[in-house]
Amino acid sequence: MTSMNDIRRSFLDYFEKNGHARVQSAPLVPHNDPTLMFVNAGMVPFKNVFTGLETRPYSTAVSSQKCVRAGGKHNDLDNVGYTARHHTFFEMLGNFSFGDYFKEQAIHHAWTLITKEWGLPADRLIATVYHTDDEAFDLWKKVAGLPESRIIRIPTKDNFWAMGDDGPCGPCSEIFFDHGDHIPGGPPGSPDEDGDRFVEIWNLVFMQFEQAAGEIVSELPKKSIDTGMGLERVAAVLQGVHDNYDTDTFKALIAASEELTKTRAEGAQQASHRVIADHLRASGFLVADGVLPANEGRGYVLRRIMRRAMRHAHLLGAKEPLMWRLVPELVSEMGSAYPELVRAQPLIEATLLQEETRFRQTLANGLKLLDEATSELSEGGTLPGAMAFKLYDTFGFPYDLTEDALRARGLTVDRAGFDASMAEQKAQARAAWKGSGEKASDELWFDLAEELGSTEFIGYSSHEGEGVVL
Ligand code: ATP
Ligand code: MG
Ligand code: MG
Ligand code: MG
Repeated sequence: MTSMNDIRRSFLDYFEKNGHARVQSAPLVPHNDPTLMFVNAGMVPFKNVFTGLETRPYSTAVSSQKCVRAGGKHNDLDNVGYTARHHTFFEMLGNFSFGDYFKEQAIHHAWTLITKEWGLPADRLIATVYHTDDEAFDLWKKVAGLPESRIIRIPTKDNFWAMGDDGPCGPCSEIFFDHGDHIPGGPPGSPDEDGDRFVEIWNLVFMQFEQAAGEIVSELPKKSIDTGMGLERVAAVLQGVHDNYDTDTFKALIAASEELTKTRAEGAQQASHRVIADHLRASGFLVADGVLPANEGRGYVLRRIMRRAMRHAHLLGAKEPLMWRLVPELVSEMGSAYPELVRAQPLIEATLLQEETRFRQTLANGLKLLDEATSELSEGGTLPGAMAFKLYDTFGFPYDLTEDALRARGLTVDRAGFDASMAEQKAQARAAWKGSGEKASDELWFDLAEELGSTEFIGYSSHEGEGVVL
C-alpha cells in the first residue's frame, strides 16, 4: 500500500522533477496577515507573489501546506466525524505558477500525475469548469481526453475564485473522483452533490483577470496557476478506500485510541474515534506552531477543538485524560515529514494533559446538567439558549460542543437565546463596575475588553479570508 508519507513525497518529487522549486510548509499562523485566523490553503504563503508585491527566485513552486479550517470563513469543524472527507487539519498539496505556465500545462500536469504516475482510472474522474470557461472545457477534452459528458459546467462561485474585491481572480476546475454507486450522492452541480460519492480531490485555479471593486477590469499580463489537492482525500482514493478515516495515518491514530479506551470504532462510537483522531492532529500541529488554548482568538478555536475531542474521550468511557497519550502515535506517523512535531512533543503532551485535567473537573457535571435539561425534549427539539450559556459560563462548554453533544440526538440549540444571555451578562458586568469614576475611560476599558476580551471569538469577516477559496 502507498502510505500517506509516500504520496506526499511522490507529489513533491513529480513537480520538482518538472522544474518546480520545493517550498516548505509555512506555519499555520499566517505571517503578515492578521485578518486570517489560520493558513487555510496552499496559496496563502504565496499571496504577495501572486499580486506582485513580492518576488521569489523561482517562477514555479510545489508545496505540501499545513491547513486548518476551523473558524472564520472556511469552517469545516461541524463536518468532522460526520462526512468521509472533511478535517479541521489537513495537508494541501499544491503546484504554483507565478506568471509562468498557464491552463494547458496545469491540466497536463494534474492529469499526468493522477492517471499516469498514480494510475487512477480515467473513467472514474470528472472535471468541472466555470460555465463560461470554454478554453478549460476544450483543454479537458484535448489534453485529458475526457468525454464531454464528464466535463461539467458550473455557474456558481465554487468555480470562480477571487482574492477579494481587488486583485487577481479567475475561473477554476475541480477534479472529482467517483467512489461508486454504492455510496449516496450525485455528481457536482446536481441537487445531491453534497453526498460523499463524488469527492473533490483537486482544485485548479486559473488566475486570469484583474478585479477592481468587484468588477473584472482587465486580463492579467502574467497569468498564474494555484492548485490544491487534499492529501487525505487522494490517499483514500489511492489506498482503495472511500473514507479518509480509513487511510493509513488515520487507521493508526484510531487504533491507538481504540487500544487506550478499550472500545471499537464502530456504531455510535465511530464518530467519537474520528473526532479524536482529527482533533489530535489539529491540536498537535497548532501547539507546535505556537498556539496555546485561551479564551480568545486563535487560542479559543484551539480550546474548542481540544474540548470537543475531550468530550468524545469521555463518551468512550475514558477515566483519565486521553488525548496526551495519543501524541506519540501522532509523532510517529507525521514527525518525519514535520520535524516541528517532534520538537514540540513535550509541549503538546503537557498542554493537552493540562487542558483535559482542567476540563474533566467540570465536564461530568456539565453533561449531567445537559442530560437533565434535555430529558423532556424529543427529536427536533431545541435547548434554551440560557442553558447553553450556563454550560459555557459555569462548565466551560464552548457553544459548538453543546451543539455537537445534542446533534446525535437530533436536538438543536437556540443560538439567539445564547447570544442574548451573553450580551446580558456583559451588560451586568458593565453595570456592576464602579470603576474609577471617570466615565469616559471606563467606557473605553469595556470597549477594549470586549474587543480583545474573554468572549468567544466569532471569526473575521474580511475579504482576505473570503479570498482564500481556492
Ligand atoms: P469541498 O467542496 O469538498 O468542501 P473545497 O472546494 O472547499 O472542498 P478547496 O478550497 O478547493 O476545497 O481546497 C482544495 C482541496 O483541499 C480540495 O479539493 C480538497 O481536496 C481539500 N480540502 C478542502 N477542505 C478540506 C477539509 N476540510 N478536509 C480535508 N481536505 C480538504
Ligand atoms: Mg469546502
Ligand atoms: Mg468544492
Ligand atoms: Mg474546491
